[in-house]
Amino acid sequence: MSKFWSPFVSDLVPYVPGEQPKLTRLVKLNTNENPYGPSPKAIDAMRAALTDDLRLYPDPNSDLLKHAVADYYKVQPSQVFLGNGSDEVLAHIFHALFQHDTPLLFPDISYSFYPVYCGLYGIDYETVPLDEQFQIRAEDYARPNAGIIFPNPNAPTGCLLGLDKVEQIIKASPDSVVVVDEAYIDFGGETAITLVDRYPNLLVTQTLSKSRSLAGLRVGLAVGHPDLIEALERVKNSFNSYPLDRMANVGGAAAFEDREHFEMTRNKVIESREALVEQLQGKGFEVLPSAANFIFARHPQHDAAALAARLREQGVIVRHFKQQRIAQFLRISIGTPEQHQALLEGLSDL
Ligand SMILES: *Cc1c(COP(=O)(O)O)cnc(C)c1O
Repeated sequence: MSKFWSPFVSDLVPYVPGEQPKLTRLVKLNTNENPYGPSPKAIDAMRAALTDDLRLYPDPNSDLLKHAVADYYKVQPSQVFLGNGSDEVLAHIFHALFQHDTPLLFPDISYSFYPVYCGLYGIDYETVPLDEQFQIRAEDYARPNAGIIFPNPNAPTGCLLGLDKVEQIIKASPDSVVVVDEAYIDFGGETAITLVDRYPNLLVTQTLSKSRSLAGLRVGLAVGHPDLIEALERVKNSFNSYPLDRMANVGGAAAFEDREHFEMTRNKVIESREALVEQLQGKGFEVLPSAANFIFARHPQHDAAALAARLREQGVIVRHFKQQRIAQFLRISIGTPEQHQALLEGLSDL
């Protein structure tokens, strides 16, 4: 704390991202990165953009990437918003769309950045408990609210809510914005983007960090009614006109165009997930049904924090949340078969 700070800064409770260790030989299964590389075509496009043109600002509207996203999802470019990672897109959403008189709703167990944005922007919120099976219950959201946000599949549980249930939530709150955070949708769900033309209160966010393996590039997006997009553009252009640099614009567009690489890598992740679930169940773990590139698992006889510490000693890092209801779970990102082997060796004496 310092006398130079604006007063609200000392009250902030910032988000704590998963560890990014400097030691490269660690088996890193803690931040849901993709174990396979991004599209080689995206890398080539970025290499080709590494020229003297970097002296010039990028396109403030990112038209190339907006068109690539619009083509991919069969929507209009005016329905697409882009940001420096979906975390930035989410920050603008909280700022532009969730500051109202009633509380914002989100699940008690979900992305831990949501309460952080509420703290930053002074937004009142209420959490809605997941059911006993750690599933979102659509009917629990049919009450007065300033907005609703949930990840689908949910994080850190990995559980998917069916598109019919998502639609039920959107329909029940026609006077507030419902945001579906689809960071993991490509690993087993059906996107709600197909519903945006029917529901002007629906906004869907996605990221290139997970299924397109570009966490280091920082590209996220939102798709929804042009009126919602306009609110986000107004906030963005009052904050940073150039959130996507020249690499992000061309690399992101090429990544969306390379459907073959995308399909190949996501199928490999899904196959590895199914294999890992069986292997962990064989060791006595209880694993929640996952439609994401991570699994959420607990062992009835072993403390989760102790297991995480033991794995860490053997060079394998997974994520453990010290939070009520989930303190006995480990979140394990899907890696390569070799990385899974190291994980299972670290658990061999269970
Ligand atoms: C990873 C993640 C994000 C953020 O992704 P970036 O685009 O890398 O900022 C957003 N929401 C959820 C639920 C995530 O897990």
